[in-house]
Amino acid sequence: MVKMTESRWRTRALLAMLVIVAVAAAAVYYPIAVRAIRRATWEGRVSKGMALARQREEAKEDAYDARFSGVNSDRGPGVALSFDDWEVDGWHRFFTRHDIRRLNARVTFYISHPYRLTEQQFAKLKELEALGHEIGYHGYKHRFASRYVQNSGTEKYLADEIEPGMRILEEHGFEPRTFAYPGGLRAPEVDKVLLERFSIVRGTSYIAPEEEAPARKHYCTISADERGKRMVWAYNIDVPLNAGAMSYVLSRVELASKRRRIAVLYGHNITDDKGYWGTVDESDPRYECTQWHEDVKAILEFAHDRGMRFYTMAELE
Ligand SMILES: [Zn+2]
Repeated sequence: MVKMTESRWRTRALLAMLVIVAVAAAAVYYPIAVRAIRRATWEGRVSKGMALARQREEAKEDAYDARFSGVNSDRGPGVALSFDDWEVDGWHRFFTRHDIRRLNARVTFYISHPYRLTEQQFAKLKELEALGHEIGYHGYKHRFASRYVQNSGTEKYLADEIEPGMRILEEHGFEPRTFAYPGGLRAPEVDKVLLERFSIVRGTSYIAPEEEAPARKHYCTISADERGKRMVWAYNIDVPLNAGAMSYVLSRVELASKRRRIAVLYGHNITDDKGYWGTVDESDPRYECTQWHEDVKAILEFAHDRGMRFYTMAELE
């Protein structure tokens, strides 16, 4: 009887101790557990929030990218660089340099005012073509299509601005396959006619009115559902428009590299005269937009070092 009572007390004491230990443990660990759970859900929320923010950022970049540079590409990321107008000597000097040739860059030269070129300059163009560059067409007198068509109609624009210059280039052994609108000032009704003659027609991204801003579907692209869209918008790299912003241009190229797209860029004269930024004052005999050797070299090296491909404009089809 006594033994029974003793053992019951012992059991009760043991139970009481267990309860005390459990309560003490709960008192100590409960706040820690609550904190851990809170932290886990908070971190979950934060990382979810961050993922969402990242997604939004990427969507924004995509929209921006679609407007300012880039064509979808399943042939690998790359750069399609073109230079407009007539500064053949500057282009030739730059692209025949040893340090530039080593980069295996291939670009497009869009010729305007072909009647101004000397035989020697045509020979330089031939040499550039032999190096893998493309010779495209940029108009007979660099007339702005939108204005000219409004005043004189599409037929006259083709007769005055397309035919005579193409004839001169063809007489010198060139067969331009792509066209760049002077000033980027396009006329949608001319796009159609030009696209019958040229495989690619290039506009400029900064000049396109908002409602015409090229959505990605308007880009020349080689993905199956977008094949046949051959209007391409290029982003300008001229010094006067991009003073101090070469890093921005390079960021476009980097974005193209990351997204496996082709950055489409264009400029004009290439000079090593750092005192000369180019001018858009037509009374200045040196009238021409320009970019410096080192800036063009920076773009080419940037793309080359990332293993990006160089595309001529005709290769965007
Ligand atoms: Zn031009």
